[in-house]
Amino acid sequence: MYYVSTRDGRSRPERVEFEEVLLRGLAPDGGLYLPNQWPSLSENEWRALRGRPYVEVAARMIAPFLGETLSSARLTTILAETYAGFDDARVAPLRELASGLWLLELFHGPTLAFKDYALQLVGRLFDEALTRRRGRVTIIGATSGDTGSAAIEAIRDRAAADIFILYPEGRISAVQRRQMTTVPSANVHAIAIAGSFDDCQDLVKAMFADGPFRAAHHLSAVNSINWARIVTQTVYYAYAALALGAPNKPIGFTVPTGNFGNVYAAHVARMMGLPIGDLVIATNQNDILARFFNDGAMSLRPVEPSLSPSMDVQVSSNFERLLYDLKGRDGTAVADAMVRFRKEGTMPVTASELAEARKLFTAYSFDDAETIDEIARTWRDRGVMLDPHSAVGVAAARDHLATHGGKGPMVSLATAHPAKFPDAIERAVGVRPALPPHLSDLMERPERTVRLPNSVAAVEDYIHRRARPLREVAA
Ligand SMILES: *Cc1c(COP(=O)(O)O)cnc(C)c1O
Repeated sequence: MYYVSTRDGRSRPERVEFEEVLLRGLAPDGGLYLPNQWPSLSENEWRALRGRPYVEVAARMIAPFLGETLSSARLTTILAETYAGFDDARVAPLRELASGLWLLELFHGPTLAFKDYALQLVGRLFDEALTRRRGRVTIIGATSGDTGSAAIEAIRDRAAADIFILYPEGRISAVQRRQMTTVPSANVHAIAIAGSFDDCQDLVKAMFADGPFRAAHHLSAVNSINWARIVTQTVYYAYAALALGAPNKPIGFTVPTGNFGNVYAAHVARMMGLPIGDLVIATNQNDILARFFNDGAMSLRPVEPSLSPSMDVQVSSNFERLLYDLKGRDGTAVADAMVRFRKEGTMPVTASELAEARKLFTAYSFDDAETIDEIARTWRDRGVMLDPHSAVGVAAARDHLATHGGKGPMVSLATAHPAKFPDAIERAVGVRPALPPHLSDLMERPERTVRLPNSVAAVEDYIHRRARPLREVAA
């Protein structure tokens, strides 16, 4: 297997190996990487994975994507390490919410959001590859909340990387800030910027654009378009589907969606032969995807802050991967479409491409008031607390079952632990959720942070003085 960029329109596109895809993230032409073919498992192979531990399902599903990068024994060792620290032995447990409606809990990793499931592995794969190449990187990123802590937990104490995360001072919750500032590892740096999230993002972009600085520190990112994250996220779809009766019957999934990464991973699992029934996209009032699937128009609007901030997205970067298949794997057509989308604010998609997309996904959107209603309903009916992102998902799953029910079980993804969003929960149910045991003393732990002005020079100077020196990079 090799990988190609979604924007490579040459008749013989560049063939890239997995490890290069992992370390590059984005392709040099601005496209996203995809495998040249979908590996698939037979019905008997799926059946053999029923009831097996999470790590075994993961090893079987991820191995075909790695090529020669890792032996399967080494992969299994790394996977066992990755999920050993999760706070539920099942890793991704299911819970029944109503007849035919299940919740898949994806908040049992160190930072209580589903991003841990992929980033905990990706951090280890980075370290493995860089150590072998005798190289190291400096990872920089901006966060408005969840991503920063998940990236920090993935990179802390790794020999081959330092990580610097910029956050807007005073504009993230105390839980979110403390998840970054209380990590005592020497290679972790949380930086409070006197400015907004956009200022933080602009600082990161400016550092990547500063050629000499970028080269001197081997700047890298662990963002949501990294293919390794998508592959890793296919696993819990299979694990849940097999527990509920696949491959004998199809299982539906509802996914709280922002950048289209998680729901795209479900699509990949389906392309690998997992019998997934309906795939439902759930969005908040930032509903560009719902408008696309329902009305056929993907048109940009300003981002509106919501109770589910990790879904406050207008440009869903991973949509480009679906577009590549819709456009017959024509890299030139994708590159043209993305340029027009940026320039005109509307994605050019033909009627037949739209019809094809609608066969694959259904979409719903819910605003903040409906989110609060769903948190209250599920608490009242089942005694289960949903975080605002997961509540948008459950509301969509209920709506979908009411209008298209009867096609087998529906699994709705719980993408974060309710204790990450205590204010919204308290507003909905009048109770403040408790942090799980491994974080119960989070509010008492000592913090380590630095406050810097909104200035590229100041941030670069800080990184320059703190990043550990680079060794030789072989590749
Ligand atoms: C990142 C995130 C999402 C959105 O996931 P995508 O892969 O970007 O669609 C949903 N819920 C939570 C809690 C998140 O952190």
